[in-house]
Amino acid sequence: MAVANTIPAERVAQNKRSGSLITLDDLKVEYLSPRGPVRAVDGVTFDINPGEVVGLAGESGSGKSTIAMAILRILQPPAVITGGQVLFGGRDILAMSDSELEDFRWREVSMVFQSAMNALNPVMTIGDQIVDAIRAHSRTSKSDARQRAADLLDVVGIEKARIDSYPHELSGGMRQRAVIAIALTLNPPLMIMDEPTTALDVVVQKEIMYQISELKEKLGFSILFITHDLSLLVEISDRIAIMYAGQIVEMAPARELFEHPLHPYTQGLMQSFPSLTGDKKRLTGIPGSPPDLISPPSGCRFHPRCPKRFEMCDKVVPKLAEVSPGHLVACHLYPEVRAESQNHGD
Ligand code: SF4
Repeated sequence: MAVANTIPAERVAQNKRSGSLITLDDLKVEYLSPRGPVRAVDGVTFDINPGEVVGLAGESGSGKSTIAMAILRILQPPAVITGGQVLFGGRDILAMSDSELEDFRWREVSMVFQSAMNALNPVMTIGDQIVDAIRAHSRTSKSDARQRAADLLDVVGIEKARIDSYPHELSGGMRQRAVIAIALTLNPPLMIMDEPTTALDVVVQKEIMYQISELKEKLGFSILFITHDLSLLVEISDRIAIMYAGQIVEMAPARELFEHPLHPYTQGLMQSFPSLTGDKKRLTGIPGSPPDLISPPSGCRFHPRCPKRFEMCDKVVPKLAEVSPGHLVACHLYPEVRAESQNHGD
């Protein structure tokens, strides 16, 4: 399906302009618990450029969704942002007032959640839900908003005639497309997608991924795409960051990461899903389970599960260091990391 461009050309050009769109700098988030703070996100730094898709992968509880909610400042107690900055267009989102945030959310960054059924109001038509989203953020007449809602449905591959359908009258794939349409309402330059296809079957998942890529190419927005499924990310991402126990342990251009995964955890993740193109192989997975983030393991947090650990691994925290152009890893197997970790040890 061809994508109708309802986004102003100026905004598309702005979306595609070079230079970092958003920068997370040493972000820290804790969940307060009676046993002590759970360090869910612990010193995460990365940026996203205009028009770029950055994939964030890792097991459940690694901190991926917490990062997404921290960017939008929608974390609820007992979660607390305890450090770092999130810079968007030179402004620190973490320092914004409530009214600034109201203006920022949806207009600059929108979010597509995992379960479309939970994200949509079951007693409102999808058209009315899009109209409400448009009118909540802009002075638009009801008829203009309805016209735009129909255009947005068309953009995401839903017939305009379905504008008066209720969520339960749509298939799972259509509901997720409707949620994407709502996220596109204000043409934000960044969209966060948190496991947007997890609840869908493989065929529909493929269609939605194709649609997302097509929309992104046409409209020029950036995406932070969060999933536990690394195989999905290679298709859509420009760069991929791998998270383990609240920290980024590897980040590289997507193809490079797939062809040359350096961190033993990334290598374990890659062996946890079947290859669509290569020879048949036994899936091994990663033995053990993620650590307790109230008192994470000393040194490298992955050392209790790592098949390649050696003497210094439980003593020195490995710093993220660049080992080839654009390829960063936090593992003592690499001399660049050992040098960086010993120079800037905690
Ligand atoms: Fe394994 Fe050591 Fe590398 Fe950690 S630093 S991933 S324990 S080899």
